Amino acid sequence: MTDPKNKVLKPGATIGILGGGQLGRMLSVAASRLGFKTCIFEPQSDCPASHVANYHFKSDYFNTDALTNFAKACEVITFEFENIPTTALDIIEEITPIHPNRNALATSQDRFTEKNFLTRIGLQTAPYAAVETCEDLEKAIDQIGMPAILKTRRMGYDGKGQSRLMSPDDAAQAMTDMAGAPAVLEGFIDFSVEISVIGTRSADGAISCFDPGKNVHQNGILRSTTVPAKLSRSQRTDTVLLTANILNALDYVGTMGVELFVTPMGLIVNEIAPRVHNSGHWTQAGCAIDQFEQHIRAIAGWPLGDGSRHSNVTMENLIGDDVNRLMYIAKTNTAIHLYGKASVKPGRKMGHINTITGTSV
Ligand code: AMP
Repeated sequence: MTDPKNKVLKPGATIGILGGGQLGRMLSVAASRLGFKTCIFEPQSDCPASHVANYHFKSDYFNTDALTNFAKACEVITFEFENIPTTALDIIEEITPIHPNRNALATSQDRFTEKNFLTRIGLQTAPYAAVETCEDLEKAIDQIGMPAILKTRRMGYDGKGQSRLMSPDDAAQAMTDMAGAPAVLEGFIDFSVEISVIGTRSADGAISCFDPGKNVHQNGILRSTTVPAKLSRSQRTDTVLLTANILNALDYVGTMGVELFVTPMGLIVNEIAPRVHNSGHWTQAGCAIDQFEQHIRAIAGWPLGDGSRHSNVTMENLIGDDVNRLMYIAKTNTAIHLYGKASVKPGRKMGHINTITGTSV
């Protein structure tokens, strides 16, 4: 018998999305192309997803009535960011299935729990230790060495909530930077390149991974992703195997982003994101089926599409003022995606462009 959590949705059904940012916007567009309606749950009005979704529940994540009505209005619910309060999920899950599942979300909400999980399934991470007090940090430094990075266990994104330690003298400042939040100390990885893999698992356990992309970060924020990343055949195979390992271990349904460091000791997992991912935006121009459609197919109980890459692509984020230079950077082989954000702020992702640089061979 089919698990009711994994029922096959018919076109016309309503898909709920927690969060109304650009990922929610692009998920809504993908769902709409497949004939679904979308309903977003997001406290802010005039948010990127509200411009394209059918319905918008405008409420905070602690409003029981709003969450209950949202869940009743949808046949399946997904999310576009991982820091959703678990109390909201408790209410929703009583009424409507959530994909990806609670365990995947909880695992990735806490860097320490996530690293424990990755280690348990046999994958390599940076050496790490939990830190709550100055004494913990001293012990962790002894164990891990320098340089290292102290990161908050929760709520960090785009390099926020992180402090670099070049010597033990930086310990006091790093603790101040954490502002009392539980943290994890990570050994600094001397990587040759950062890559990520976007993988999707369907309700019946089929897995499809997009080609790995090479990522360039600036000030902790993703600047660009380029495919193909220059990897050996065995490295490419490894990226697929380890992503499948993670997806299966979490009994995952939907699309996930896996960020990796390439090192002489092999691939080291930096972090996982239980959702569509900024470094997967290139798939919109490089594949017949992009990461957003794969995710909607998976959570709707549909078979996955063919995610093989037909073109070489460079995706560049338009961050802050970049968006105002659009007229200059728009070329005929460049697809433009703007998120409709009301105001430009430094560091804010305003859109991205996908430039086709060649045909895949
Ligand atoms: P994160 O928010 O953990 O993805 O970190 C943001 C960026 O900081 C990463 O994309 C890397 O460029 C860098 N970074 C994070 N952790 C490490 C590490 N353990 N070793 C070296 N670089 C790191």
